[in-house]
Amino acid sequence: MADLKQFDVIIIGGSYSGMAAGMALGRALKQVLIIDSGNPCNAPTPHSHNFLTQDGKTPLQIATLAKQQVEKYNTVTFFNGLATHGIKTDNGFEI
Ligand SMILES: Cc1cc2nc3c(=O)[nH]c(=O)nc-3n(C[C@H](O)[C@H](O)[C@H](O)COP(=O)(O)OP(=O)(O)OC[C@H]3O[C@@H](n4cnc5c(N)ncnc54)[C@H](O)[C@@H]3O)c2cc1C
Repeated sequence: MADLKQFDVIIIGGSYSGMAAGMALGRALKQVLIIDSGNPCNAPTPHSHNFLTQDGKTPLQIATLAKQQVEKYNTVTFFNGLATHGIKTDNGFEI
């Protein structure tokens, strides 16, 4: 992503929390960028529980399905990478 692009919202972290926020905002027609470095805290877990409809699935299965659903919103853009720097500008933030 060499060019600077503008978004209404930039979400750093595109796992469950980030994708849930991204879906809600994307559905509200906000232009959303989700930056994710692909290192969720539960990666080593063989099975997930206490999440209705997903009991026993691996974290990756749940995240993969979530991403497929969020990607259907053309208001949401995903970027694989680590956000390393952010500054406040006159009219927002530069990440
Ligand atoms: C071992 C273990 C087992 C668990 N088992 C269950 C269970 O059975 N049932 C249950 O309901 N919950 C379980 N949990 C809890 C559940 O996994 C967490 O609540 C959930 O993963 C939190 O989601 P999150 O999106 O907030 O964070 P995460 O899933 O950790 O995602 C954070 C994301 O942000 C990215 N990121 C961080 N910094 C940056 C940056 N600077 N730039 C770009 N990307 C960045 C990371 O790469 C990662 O992808 C478990 C947790 C652990 C650790």
